[in-house]
Amino acid sequence: MTTISATQGSFPTDISEIRSRLRSWNQVKTMRWALGNGSESAENQPSSAILIAIDCEWHENEPRELTEIGIAMLDTRDIQGLEPGPNAENWLDKIWFYHLRIREHGHMLNTRFCPGHPDDFNWGTTKWVTKAEASRALHDLFTERVEPPKPELCPVVFLGHAVHGDSQKLAEHLQFDMGAIGSVVSTLDTQVIANECGYRGRGDTIGLGPLCSRFDISPKHLHNAGNDSGYTLITAVMMGLTSEQKELAKVDKPVDSLMTSLMAARKSYRPPSWGVESFCTRCDRVGHVQPQCRARVECSKCKAKSRRGYRSHSTHRCTRVERVYESMDEFNNIQW
Ligand SMILES: [Zn+2]
Ligand SMILES: [Zn+2]
Repeated sequence: MTTISATQGSFPTDISEIRSRLRSWNQVKTMRWALGNGSESAENQPSSAILIAIDCEWHENEPRELTEIGIAMLDTRDIQGLEPGPNAENWLDKIWFYHLRIREHGHMLNTRFCPGHPDDFNWGTTKWVTKAEASRALHDLFTERVEPPKPELCPVVFLGHAVHGDSQKLAEHLQFDMGAIGSVVSTLDTQVIANECGYRGRGDTIGLGPLCSRFDISPKHLHNAGNDSGYTLITAVMMGLTSEQKELAKVDKPVDSLMTSLMAARKSYRPPSWGVESFCTRCDRVGHVQPQCRARVECSKCKAKSRRGYRSHSTHRCTRVERVYESMDEFNNIQW
């Protein structure tokens, strides 16, 4: 582990200096630092840092549009001076969970390779947003100020599970340019953190489900972006505990009962202000959802080909494509 010499004094507060300091650290150490769990002296603890885990779901057919965004956020100012407690419940209780469905692409459902669960967000109320609203929501989260109204940005540690150019994909699909905002000091991947902690799956990497199992968590409805980002942040926090905290966090209480109570509490939270709660992907109106829709719509492409069901959707929401992937291998080998 890298040690910081006493002569270096207090930890930098300038974002670019923080970024260069973290560059030489491994990911567990960075996660511990963000949680205020650094092994160095107290002066090296961050005065403010925000952990933001993001997961995106993409449609299984070309052109592989973005259908959902999940965001889980822990503002570590909320846990300063707070012991993690049994199963780290005091810290997990401070996480904010969000699930956004993209209005333009919400009719694109995955059924073949990784069946989706877009209606089954565990941690609160799903909101329907346009791509522009999604971009603004992400912008809000990545531009938190250290001490409002002062202009200094809060350092953000960006997290994902199996991060493969996710920030570039968000820039491409939503025009949300995380790099240009300048608040991200480090990008962490729970697969890498797990590897550093010695948690391996069947190969060198571990799936999100098996990683949850390492902490006795039975994940519900994976492949819902909101749930996946939530479990990513929860497992990252668990891996960021120090060995002493891990000992203290061990209790006989099952972790799943903590998860159930966290989920129940979040259902009563007021949903985020972005977007709307009900949106119909059949007629493009708000206030109801697709199964309740009585509007008359038709798809001219399907009608022209005499396909049954041409009245089930509008032309611009037709998902009938000539080209579908034949196998999981072919699907996985497509270059982004
Ligand atoms: Zn409708
Ligand atoms: Zn059609």
